Amino acid sequence: MPSTTNQVIRCKAAVAWEAGKPLVIEEVEVAPPQKMEVRIKILFTSLCHTDVYFWEAKGQNPVFPRILGHEAGGVVESVGEGVTDLQPGDHVLPVFTGECKECAHCKSEESNMCDLLRINTDRGVMINDQKSRFSINGKPIFHFVGTSTFSEYTVVHVGCLAKINPLAPLDKVCVLSCGISTGLGATLNVAKPKKGSSVAIFGLGAVGLAAAEGARISGASRIIGVDLNANRFELAKKFGVTEFVNPKDHTKPVQEVIAEMTNGGVDRSVECTGHIDAMISAFECVHDGWGVAVLVGVPHKDAVFKTSPLNLLNERTLKGTFFGNYKPRSDIPSVVEKYMNKELELEKFITHELPFSEINKAFDLMLKGEGLRCIIRMGE
Ligand code: NAD
Ligand code: ZN
Repeated sequence: MPSTTNQVIRCKAAVAWEAGKPLVIEEVEVAPPQKMEVRIKILFTSLCHTDVYFWEAKGQNPVFPRILGHEAGGVVESVGEGVTDLQPGDHVLPVFTGECKECAHCKSEESNMCDLLRINTDRGVMINDQKSRFSINGKPIFHFVGTSTFSEYTVVHVGCLAKINPLAPLDKVCVLSCGISTGLGATLNVAKPKKGSSVAIFGLGAVGLAAAEGARISGASRIIGVDLNANRFELAKKFGVTEFVNPKDHTKPVQEVIAEMTNGGVDRSVECTGHIDAMISAFECVHDGWGVAVLVGVPHKDAVFKTSPLNLLNERTLKGTFFGNYKPRSDIPSVVEKYMNKELELEKFITHELPFSEINKAFDLMLKGEGLRCIIRMGE
């Protein structure tokens, strides 16, 4: 039994003390896991745009001081009361939305919106006792989406941990714990394009390009990438994107540009930007009669979706999804196997690597729109 079981662990964590201010690497105390909780050692984490939104807190409720981070891979250090599925040494991917396996959603084949563990961005505490497991000199530091992976050790509800093949390299498969599964699933599980169809992808970051990868795997014949950042276009070619539209190059709305390119609209669209204008365009650019648009980007908290109801009456469908409709515990181990069997490439999403001590540089890269995913090596 590891000597740290039932003990408070002191380790390094990157604490966001205030909105938009650089994270500070602090020594934090991480309490032992309680009922249905697991304490894990994070080996690799990456940065997703959702971390940046909640760090900036411009369009989201501020919860500080907080330990951000939700895309990661780690190893179980110890388990709390009632945890039978996991044991120390197991390799896991923490996920921002959970699966209790007991509620109506978990029992439904259609939903991954677990009643108990669905994403909650405003909660900074564990659900068992409404307290934080992180502290500095007795002062609590809040959690983020139940994962807080910018810490060498973190405590996560067992329902938010996917147990994966221990042979899978955690420095690669960590990107499946959020962005890549989200984009891939948004296309494969929700948009479901038919072979030979046309698909528009709004936002060519890692999430959008994973959605494009889903379109390529589905046999889409045209994959139209839309982004305001022209630097993304070169990168996107590796992901099967066949045509590019930069809304800045056109005077008319991008949905009209796409309708002209596709004889009335695309068969499917997937929005991965988080911007309300792009969400509306992504919906309005699908073909009437059969088009389906899927929203993935996390919106500003006050955003309102405005479109003519006629766009729906004309038989366009609007959908949205968290985590690509995957159930974290039931489905993610097999997505990891797709990587192991070389059916899914993850290396091309990983454009940067940094030691934990330089985590703020990963925020700079994301803000500048440079690269896709940056892997942060913990313990360095
Ligand atoms: P990213 O910043 O790497 O990529 C976003 C891209 O969108 C950028 O290239 C940017 O230039 C582009 N963009 C921004 N506004 C645009 C507009 N109006 N029109 C066209 N392009 C525009 O971010 P990411 O990590 O790939 O995440 C993408 C989005 O997905 C974010 O909103 C993130 O919060 C969200 N997300 C959602 C889920 C989910 O489960 N629903 C999970 C992960 C991430
Ligand atoms: Zn559930």
